[in-house]
Amino acid sequence: MKAEVIAVGSELLLGQIANTNGQFLSQQLAKAGVDVFYHSVVGDNATRLQETLEIASKRSELIILTGGLGPTKDDLTKEVVASFLHKELVIDEVALEQIVSFFEKRNLPMTENNRKQALVLKEATIFQNHYGMAPGMATIHQGVTYVLLPGPPREMRPMVTEQVIPFLSSHVGDVQIISRVLRFFGIGESKLETELEDLIDGQSNPTIAPLASEGEVTLRLTVKHHDETQAALLLDETERKIRERVGHYFYGYDETSLMEKLVSCLTKTGLSLASAESLTGGLFGARITNIPGASACFLAAITTYTNDMKQSWLNVPPHVLEQHGAVSPECAIAMAQGVKKLTKADVTISFTGVAGPSPSEGKEPGTVFIGLCFRDDEPEAITLQLSGSREQIRERTLKHGCQQILNRIKRWNERSNDKV
Ligand code: ATP
Ligand code: MG
Repeated sequence: MKAEVIAVGSELLLGQIANTNGQFLSQQLAKAGVDVFYHSVVGDNATRLQETLEIASKRSELIILTGGLGPTKDDLTKEVVASFLHKELVIDEVALEQIVSFFEKRNLPMTENNRKQALVLKEATIFQNHYGMAPGMATIHQGVTYVLLPGPPREMRPMVTEQVIPFLSSHVGDVQIISRVLRFFGIGESKLETELEDLIDGQSNPTIAPLASEGEVTLRLTVKHHDETQAALLLDETERKIRERVGHYFYGYDETSLMEKLVSCLTKTGLSLASAESLTGGLFGARITNIPGASACFLAAITTYTNDMKQSWLNVPPHVLEQHGAVSPECAIAMAQGVKKLTKADVTISFTGVAGPSPSEGKEPGTVFIGLCFRDDEPEAITLQLSGSREQIRERTLKHGCQQILNRIKRWNERSNDKV
């Protein structure tokens, strides 16, 4: 189904608000397997909205309009669509009752233009508004489906997920559209695409769509099939092919974050963790404790920012600081060992480095050392050269830290399985 979205509102054209409704609708439609080919933004102007509808009706099978369903004079979406489709506007009794009772409950006078919000296109499918007054609606005319939605995001969003998507699914037929998101860290988008180029180009069911954000890359696999079990098998097969090539960087599905994955892996394996933080200033501890259930595996975060505190709290030897400085692999290892001695955690991790914007100890911003003590293994230091702002360097450091621990757990699991 070819779809397009029309956002109505002069405030959008003036740049007073961002068209987040357009973004949300595209995300939801993509998830539902509907292809969105165009977006338009048009002001509260009947002539220009009419022109936009003329163009849209010639090239799309589904047109979704958002905004302009309210009570004021500039809200004219319904009126313009009604005249464009030569359909009558009638009062929707359910919506009217809701509006009347809203005013009664608050003891407020109801004006005639509030009644206008209960007007709907005759014989349309109505989407009741559970968070506001104006209902949404859908009507089919000459093979084109028109969907009208309110502008306020808090009204529009639940209407879309609870009512519009199920309505559209029943129109697409009984084909199931199922998506699975694979998440990767430590590989750039272009490298991932190059590794999978033939798969991405050659696949049509499922389709494979890459997306990059904040050092991570995701692949959305979307399959269409009338049988749910078959759909899952097609997804499994494509996932297997992808992981054969880039499985090393794969860490989880759908909305899982690296931190969540880390907590679940530690909990499953029964390993405890503690951190020693300089560069990250306690951020690692803060983030991991955001995850419910972290107390099952996370013991402590010790933040030591000055050299003195690194010595007195973490027992970093003075000669390490004198000879190598605080931003060094030697210091990272000593910090990880220090927190291990204090907490007796199975796994300890430390972060030291230069977040910028200026160099420190003669080292460039983005120079990062992660120290790691994993059970009785030899302590290790991982050197990173990251780019970005101060905030981005710290955030990326956290993700690298999670990935390093996850990789160690994976290797440890493999070693344990070998022994069995
Ligand atoms: P109302 O009953 O509030 O008048 P409406 O359906 O008439 O709702 P608009 O008047 O077009 O909608 O917009 C109301 C408010 O909703 C805007 O001021 C804005 O805050 C928000 N809004 C409208 N369109 C969008 C959009 N495309 N993206 C994000 N927010 C939007
Ligand atoms: Mg309005």
